[in-house]
Amino acid sequence: MKQTFLPALAAAALLAFPALASDPPTAPDAQVPAGEVVVTETPDADGATTGDATEATEAAEAAEAAEAADATDAAEAITAEEPWRACPEGVSPIDLPAKDSVATTSQRPYLIKYGYAVFGGHQSVTVLNTGNDLVVDFGKSDLVLNLNDRRYQLVSAHFHTPSEHLIGGQRFAGEIHFVHKEKNGDGMAVVAVMVKEGTAHSTLGKLFSNPPDAGKKRTVRVSLGKLFPFSKSGYLYEGSSTTEPCVDGVTWLVLPEPLTMSRQQLEVFEKRFGPNASAPVPSEGRNILFVE
Ligand SMILES: [Zn+2]
Repeated sequence: MKQTFLPALAAAALLAFPALASDPPTAPDAQVPAGEVVVTETPDADGATTGDATEATEAAEAAEAAEAADATDAAEAITAEEPWRACPEGVSPIDLPAKDSVATTSQRPYLIKYGYAVFGGHQSVTVLNTGNDLVVDFGKSDLVLNLNDRRYQLVSAHFHTPSEHLIGGQRFAGEIHFVHKEKNGDGMAVVAVMVKEGTAHSTLGKLFSNPPDAGKKRTVRVSLGKLFPFSKSGYLYEGSSTTEPCVDGVTWLVLPEPLTMSRQQLEVFEKRFGPNASAPVPSEGRNILFVE
């Protein structure tokens, strides 16, 4: 972990995006502030499936991916109560303290810049069932997270159940990881969105509760704006990836305002792929910043 992270972050917070204050106290359905995720949801056309032409190659790729995954996490007794650690030396996930226990800032050093000039509302993504996991592939999209004056491209997303990060000791029903790779470097940034049990979520359902058969993939159209909570306030810290390849140097942005999925939607994923959450490591002594 980089000990210089917090000072650097605070400095960046003062300099970057001065116009991006915290979310206005408006209702969740109100207009999204400029500069946030700006895509608005319109009724989604239900996921058109891909043709069969490329499925042989895709199946081969998936089988390879499944094999690689098998080698790393097979034979582990995993339960929701006692998650395993996929990366024994990793420093993520963590149990994040309540926000009044960590440093806070109202200046955002990040900007989730998915959207408007790019999609006009919807984005085609590919959902791949590797046999062990569901991976959402954003392809060569131009979905960019600006963070501490660096640009990261959204490449993929996946789902964990239960959540990997805890907040104030609370574990959530699920956690989505949006994996970003630095455009002009080798850094990684992951935006984590919490999910609690509640109302069914049509977009999350398309991605994580309607899996293609093992080794197959499916193309669906989603509104990215629906995949993030209204509030973009969150925790920033330097950690590691929680699954293979278990690398350090991952900047985490954990958004605590949860989305909801129905019990039925969660069960579809859990029965096929869960529980698949890595156990948290202690957060004492870590540089954690809460961005209002
Ligand atoms: Zn993950």
